[in-house]
Amino acid sequence: MTQMELARRGTISPQVKHVAEKEGVDADFIIRGLANGEIIIPANVNHTGLIPCAIGKGLRTKVNANIGTSSDFCDLNTELRKLQTAIEFGADTVMDLSTGGDISAIRRAIVGASTVAIGTVPIYQAGIEAIENRGAIVNMTVDDIFAVIEQHAKDGVDFMTVHCGVTQESLARLKKQSRKTDIVSRGGAFLIGWMVHNDKENPLYQYYDRLLDLALEYDFCLSLGDGLRPGCLADATDRPQIQELIILGELVERAREAGVQAMVEGPGHVPLDQIATNVQLEKSLCHGAPFYVLGPLVTDIGAGYDHITAAIGGAIAAAAGADFLCYVTPTEHLSLPTAEDVKVGVIASRIAAHAADIVKGVKGAKEWDEEMSKARKALDWKSQAKLSLDPELSHQVHSRIPSRGVTCSMCGKYCAMAIVEKYLGVSATRC
Ligand code: SF4
Repeated sequence: MTQMELARRGTISPQVKHVAEKEGVDADFIIRGLANGEIIIPANVNHTGLIPCAIGKGLRTKVNANIGTSSDFCDLNTELRKLQTAIEFGADTVMDLSTGGDISAIRRAIVGASTVAIGTVPIYQAGIEAIENRGAIVNMTVDDIFAVIEQHAKDGVDFMTVHCGVTQESLARLKKQSRKTDIVSRGGAFLIGWMVHNDKENPLYQYYDRLLDLALEYDFCLSLGDGLRPGCLADATDRPQIQELIILGELVERAREAGVQAMVEGPGHVPLDQIATNVQLEKSLCHGAPFYVLGPLVTDIGAGYDHITAAIGGAIAAAAGADFLCYVTPTEHLSLPTAEDVKVGVIASRIAAHAADIVKGVKGAKEWDEEMSKARKALDWKSQAKLSLDPELSHQVHSRIPSRGVTCSMCGKYCAMAIVEKYLGVSATRC
């Protein structure tokens, strides 16, 4: 039985028990959210070694890190190092987006080494194998697609991006819309190429029940992908994007009826003043399904710094109700990330998620900041490092240009904290 089905029977699974303790909420709260679809726990029955996390309403905002090989660079050890870096710096989930080398072997190694939930986009592998075995993506068969999905499920993948909302209907709207960047989703592009060439409906939409059967068997979550997400600010919140979202909302309902866990993916590139609207639209059209946003990036000109443009958008989206942020690294739009880029991306996204959690009233979020403020006031450098997202960096930077006294070298002997202590008698912990 899926976590959703168990919850509907009132069963407190070990996964529910664990996430309730971790979030500091009652198991009943998790059960209610799972039962109505507002909370998901991605936990494939075949992912041994998984420490589950829950995503959704009333819970801490979660962060995903994308890793994976490409056709230009493929090294399993590098990807495993990125996985460990992502976990070490606090990613709640990791997606393996590999498109180079032995994709199945890489996925199995990543799932086997991961304590966090793993997501994939099976259409990548199906498309690449169609090129290798049948000469072109457009020659991919429906069975090819479902065989790859089943293989990912058997291998223990906890959530899968499936672009079921890229239909002939949404494609018709796309054709009428003069977009600046058309389609920026790889999965969406593969499927649209196939649909146009074969003049057929998207198999993931047409045979959605087949997908639901597999999700039921292995309890992987559907991450209903946004193949028509905007790839630039000018294309944000347009008719094709919203058309796809309407379809995804209908598919969320069908998943829930079947007892399958589902979340919805969102943009992309969105101007600041449209982010909250996008969240409200998703929550309304998809009946409160957990919203997983890819950024969103708030400007198109941040190349090299897109972890920042995405963190700005992520904070606004999460504060407005988005539940799950997909990180963006400084190499976005430019190249495959290194392990260091993964670290920077995870931390940027965690800052966004935490900033939102403070205003969402998530248990422990505000208190964490208060602890840091106390340590700052006390000039307690050890505690400040310990409370930061990157303790090692915090310590290194503080030591780089050392202060001659107990303060930091920014203001030295004119430290406001030290002056106030002297005149108002507030005690400081010397480190
Ligand atoms: S020296 Fe300046 S920056 Fe450093 S702790 Fe004191 S007030 Fe803050």
